[in-house]
Amino acid sequence: MNKQQDYVLRTIDEREIKFIRLWFTDVLGSLKSIALAPAEVEGAFNEGVGFDGSSIEGLTRRSEADMLLHPDPSTFQVLPWRDVDATARMFCDLSTPDGQPAVSDPRRVLRRALDHAANLGFTFYIHPEIEFYVLKSRHPGVNGLEAIDNAGYFDNVAGGTTHDLRRRAVRLLEDLGISVEFSHHEGGPGQNEIDLRYADALATADNIMTFRSVVKEVAFEQDCFATFMPKPRWDWPGSGMHTHMSLFEGDTNAFYEAGAPHQLSRTGKHFIAGLLKHAREITAVTNQTVNSYKRLWGGDEAPSYVCWGHNNSSALVRVPTYKPNKGGSARVEYRALDSAANPYLAYAVLLEAGLRGIEHEYEIPDEIDGDLRDLSERERRVLGYEPLPTSLDEALAAMEESELVAEVLGEQLYSFFLDNKHNEWRQYRAQVTEFELRSGLTQF
Ligand code: GLU
Ligand code: MG
Ligand code: MG
Repeated sequence: MNKQQDYVLRTIDEREIKFIRLWFTDVLGSLKSIALAPAEVEGAFNEGVGFDGSSIEGLTRRSEADMLLHPDPSTFQVLPWRDVDATARMFCDLSTPDGQPAVSDPRRVLRRALDHAANLGFTFYIHPEIEFYVLKSRHPGVNGLEAIDNAGYFDNVAGGTTHDLRRRAVRLLEDLGISVEFSHHEGGPGQNEIDLRYADALATADNIMTFRSVVKEVAFEQDCFATFMPKPRWDWPGSGMHTHMSLFEGDTNAFYEAGAPHQLSRTGKHFIAGLLKHAREITAVTNQTVNSYKRLWGGDEAPSYVCWGHNNSSALVRVPTYKPNKGGSARVEYRALDSAANPYLAYAVLLEAGLRGIEHEYEIPDEIDGDLRDLSERERRVLGYEPLPTSLDEALAAMEESELVAEVLGEQLYSFFLDNKHNEWRQYRAQVTEFELRSGLTQF
């Protein structure tokens, strides 16, 4: 028993915790949970907890259904929304029964990428901006989905549920040890954003999984419904999960160079070059649903072209302006990611794309000047701006060509992901939509 494990056992005892939920994430980014009795926790630390992984998306091949969960004691937290039957949770790493790390565990994929960064001397930090919609109900009314308010960007909604909901969510997150930097109403009706304070990438990915549960629980308490779907209505802005990234060497921000243009170091430039060069092939991972592409190509500040700019919200990669003498906050923002991404896999491919840029010293292209959205399609083509994939199908084709993504995800997870997503695309392609009926039923 190490110190952290001891602390968990003591807390379970002192706070009379009745259930310990073991959390893990499947390949598609859904949170899974098994509740453990307090008496079982010590054994779980020593030997793991066996379960049948065969019905969890992408976890096992049929021939190796048995898996073990290993709770990570550093992630132990009491769930603050359970008043009766005190409940706590721990995130888990997965292994096969003989103790080999499970090849399809998303947390492991990220750990492997972080180890690679550590071997080069880097720690990877992330600050996510998470957008989501709060709706009156999950069921559409006569005019489609209805939001809980009609407010817009940064609006202060007097008497609305929105404030209560954000405040309660932020309080619960703080109780769970997740620091929130700020929160506000976003551009769409009922759309909100909560930004988590930067933390190392593994903690942030765990925090995002927790965040989604907290927001859904709070909405449920207040008789409404929260969704992280990237584009719930064609006429509302999408929900992005802009990702601010930085690499640290010890206490030094490796992206910062005083006096350089935009204070951006060579390492920072190579990292951006890596993100841009590999952007198309990683998009199926950062934007994993059919619906994701309705956001990427739906305007409203979502990026559609592979380019970078300083403080330019039409760019895929934005270098924000930071306060003078705040070199530690130097970072790059990747704006394609949406709120439905599996954060473990998405951070792994983003990190590895950036690291390739550093290792192979990719040259950064010129930054864009002005708003890309003001140019015509033709002008953008002439200027050589490559589009991001316009559909899941196109994104999968780019991923299939990608040696980078295959290596980062590992062969089994890579093939599962492609098969699963090709299937999603086939099902989608077979649909006859409202649009077709409206435009075709009476005309032909
Ligand atoms: N909702 C926008 C998106 O889908 C982002 C708005 C913003 O700049 O925060 O990316
Ligand atoms: Mg936003
Ligand atoms: Mg942003």
